[in-house]
This record gives sequence, structure tokens and C-alpha cells, in this order.
Amino acid sequence: MKIENNRVVQIHYTLRDDQGEILDSSVDHEPLPYIHGVGALIPGLEKELLGKETGDKFSVVISPSEGYGEYEEDQVFQVSAKDFDEGDELELGMQVQLEAENGPAVATITEIEGDEVTLDMNHPLAGVALHFEVEVIEVRGATKQELEHGHAHAPGAHEH
Ligand code: ZN
Repeated sequence: MKIENNRVVQIHYTLRDDQGEILDSSVDHEPLPYIHGVGALIPGLEKELLGKETGDKFSVVISPSEGYGEYEEDQVFQVSAKDFDEGDELELGMQVQLEAENGPAVATITEIEGDEVTLDMNHPLAGVALHFEVEVIEVRGATKQELEHGHAHAPGAHEH
């Protein structure tokens, strides 16, 4: 069965950056299940997977615009350490929840200088070229319930 919209696909993948450093991999875990065409994966990867079938393996380099977006300087800003709850241990690399204009967002602390804390709302992989190695493990039709939920269900899993 070929991959097309509304099929449940399981893939194994390894993601590396330009330096060949592994950023993420499913290989020592269960394959990643997703429903094709509902926006579960980054656009560049869905495009590449379309039409592939079980057993297919491929490598692809995906540019930031087809991945997690370009790095945007205006997503970086300073706040006061006093804006955080007292007793919060602020550390570099820590992710914090905040209220942005269009709802809750996650930012990473990228600098702490005295009272001034720099927050970066870019996705950690924004601006990064993504080198994927992918193997298609399974392709099947999605159930009605999976389509209603917008995500794949593990075999035998009950409703959630
Ligand atoms: Zn569900």
C-alpha cells in the first residue's frame, strides 16, 4: 500500500544536523506512527513520504522553510527575572511556558545576565537544515476513529 492522505504510516527515522550530529532518532524505540496529510509531520518530510511504501528507505535534506521554519530574531526578547515566580531556578536552556498574543507558548532561556533574562521563542530546530534517514515500516488505512481524533492509535489501544 502506498502512502497517501489519511493512511496511517509507521516510520523509523534518524535526524542529523549539518555536522552529522544525531538530533533525534526512533531507531532504538518503537517506530513513529502518524496519519499522513493532517500536518503531523513537517511539510518537507510529508512531501518526501508521499507515494512511498512499506520497506522503502530514503535520505533527504529538508531546508528550514520546509522544516521548523527560519530563525527569527524578533522571536527573541528580554524579560526581568522578577517576572518569574519567586523560587524558580532559572537556568540556561530551560524551557518556560508563557502567555503570548495567540495563546500559550514555549520559550527557551538563552541568556541570563543579572536581572535580565533572554527568552527565545523560536523552535529549537528553527533555521536548521534537517538530514533525515527514513524507513517506512507500515502503511495502512486509518480507522474512522483515528481520522476523527487526528492521530494514529496503537494496535489494541482503546479510545483516547
Ligand atoms: Zn485517539
